[in-house]
Amino acid sequence: MQLQINYADWENPNVTARENYEIARKYDKSIIVMEPVKGGVLANPPKEVCEVLKAASPDASFASWAIRYAAFLDGIITVLSGMSDIPQMLDNLSYMKHFKPLNADEQTAIRKAQELINGIKSVPCTVCHYCTAGCPKKIPIPEIFAARNQQLIWGQLEKGHKQYAEPGQIFSGSRPSEQLYRSSRGMPYFSVRHFTADQGIGAGTGIPTD
Ligand code: SF4
Repeated sequence: MQLQINYADWENPNVTARENYEIARKYDKSIIVMEPVKGGVLANPPKEVCEVLKAASPDASFASWAIRYAAFLDGIITVLSGMSDIPQMLDNLSYMKHFKPLNADEQTAIRKAQELINGIKSVPCTVCHYCTAGCPKKIPIPEIFAARNQQLIWGQLEKGHKQYAEPGQIFSGSRPSEQLYRSSRGMPYFSVRHFTADQGIGAGTGIPTD
């Protein structure tokens, strides 16, 4: 079966990568990994994560950490890693051709990276959608928070803006509240930036909060 697995989403309540992985293994399913580099963001992770990974292995690319993490788990038969140019392919081949599992020090570095990512202040939305079903203005609240978290956690201001403009693209699924939103036209104004600034979220990250 195919699962989204990467070290950043291992304990992410929106992805539940670890839980999905453990259930698949419980039933002895082999796994194909998708999104090992989380759509590319783990090839350019937050600064603190870069420092930890560089200290552990100065020559390894950040993408290599992400792909090796996914590939070294028990039961993985394939890791689907998107590559957009020849250098990326050569980098990929350099560590996958003669694959070496993460050693103890590398696993420690990854755990530290996970802690750092999980510790970045962001909007703690679990996409439960309890807030959207009864919203009279049909505001796509979890999608908006996800757009803001894209900025807060990964520093992707432009991508966050795009997601904010097209929130229906963020999560796939067929929850009634999502269908409800998609059937609506236009999006009511909601300043998530003001909300997160009020909460002190974004302060100190270099991301504008006004
Ligand atoms: S903001 Fe809405 S979707 Fe997110 S956790 Fe709260 S109730 Fe659930």
